Amino acid sequence: MKTVAAISTAQAAGGIGIVRISGDAAIEIAAKVFRPACGPGIERMRGYTARFGAVYDNGDRVDEAVCLIFRAPHSYTGEDTAEISCHGGITVVRRVLKAVLAAGAEPAGPGEFTKRAFLNGKIDLARAEAVMKLIYAGGETASKAALNALEGSLSRKIRAIADALVACSARLAAYVDYPDEDIEETGAQDFTRALTGAKAELTQLLEHYETGRAVMEGVDTVLVGRPNVGKSALMNLLAGFERSIVTPEAGTTRDIVEQTVNLGGMVLRLADTAGLREPENAAEHMGVEYAKKRLERADLVLAVFDGSDVLTPNDRELLELCRGKRVVAVINKTDLPVTIDVEYISCVAAQTVEVSAVSGSGLDRLADAVTRLLGADGFDPGAALLVSERQRACCRRALENINEALEALSNGVTLDAVGVCVDCAVNHLFELTGEKAGDAVVNEVFSSFCVGK
Ligand code: GDP
Repeated sequence: MKTVAAISTAQAAGGIGIVRISGDAAIEIAAKVFRPACGPGIERMRGYTARFGAVYDNGDRVDEAVCLIFRAPHSYTGEDTAEISCHGGITVVRRVLKAVLAAGAEPAGPGEFTKRAFLNGKIDLARAEAVMKLIYAGGETASKAALNALEGSLSRKIRAIADALVACSARLAAYVDYPDEDIEETGAQDFTRALTGAKAELTQLLEHYETGRAVMEGVDTVLVGRPNVGKSALMNLLAGFERSIVTPEAGTTRDIVEQTVNLGGMVLRLADTAGLREPENAAEHMGVEYAKKRLERADLVLAVFDGSDVLTPNDRELLELCRGKRVVAVINKTDLPVTIDVEYISCVAAQTVEVSAVSGSGLDRLADAVTRLLGADGFDPGAALLVSERQRACCRRALENINEALEALSNGVTLDAVGVCVDCAVNHLFELTGEKAGDAVVNEVFSSFCVGK
């Protein structure tokens, strides 16, 4: 396979920037651009060793650098690899990459290093998908869950389910091969038990998918309420800085102000909207329309009310708009005497929380309510978790096949037909881990990766 190179660190100014080179000629190419400060050339370096020196581009000194050598198969990709760490200025790292490409490396495609790790058997497809989840994890819980998947929690679970099904299929084949031996009652019960066990495990994985997705990818959340109830103040409290303008003047927020915030380990993609009321001009009218549209498509609604005021017709209208949505009613300004009809609000909203955006009180209760509503309160980041739509589709198809096998068994359909269903289920599970994934599937998985990983 050709030797490839890319910048593996973020393309921004930073302390250190890394250019990674992987492939048969990686060390030879690195030796053309990197000269150690002392001692023999880097071709003689053992794996897992580093040298200080400098990078040269066509004889021009580019930067001081450290070159780290990995020898196949003991590297991320499983190939010979050199990593040149230089100063993290964008221009410097790009010049190092340019020198490496001029010395014979090809530019790496998106996810090419991880794809090579997969092709060289260092990592399966389920674990490879977790790499990107870890890179993009926006919260602590998400990063824990992604690391667990990267370390193989899902792969182990899928492998165990597949192993049980393969054993089942082998025994079914034995019965088919010796048709004289009638399947006894206990035999049929064993198959049913094995298939029911696999069914339960897959069902559980599928049931936790949405919660896992919310934790890993964040939740589209909208802050709505009539003007002056404290939406912007709440946005700022959650963001931890002045993101939205807070004024006693109604109708200030018209555009949607967005900010990703962390609440109780969950990532919320929060949108602060224009106050819902009868608009006074065209700009406000548009703001109110945006707010209503955003409310419609949000996964989570934080409906804000002024606890120190009475429940107004606009508040009631908002509660009606929230019916059937995942909503937390946030009674704000509870540092002042609470006069609003909390009971009425609680009847419509599944979760009602009293807070003060000014004093910050009630934030922990809001976090609890949100995690409860998203079903993430008992979320275990250590448990096996499906981390992509592709994995979910594989699991669903495997489950369908198992259901067909169970139905066939209970209807007394011939055992070879049952065996076919079980084999199909196993194939879908192997597609999930990548053992039987076609090139198109593999290319699709890695196309969503960033260059350099
Ligand atoms: P929005 O129009 O809903 O975005 O409301 P703002 O966040 O702009 O707040 C409107 C007014 O209410 C401002 O004067 C805030 O200082 C005040 N306010 C917001 N939250 C609280 C709170 O928790 N307690 C009190 N006492 N005042 C608040």
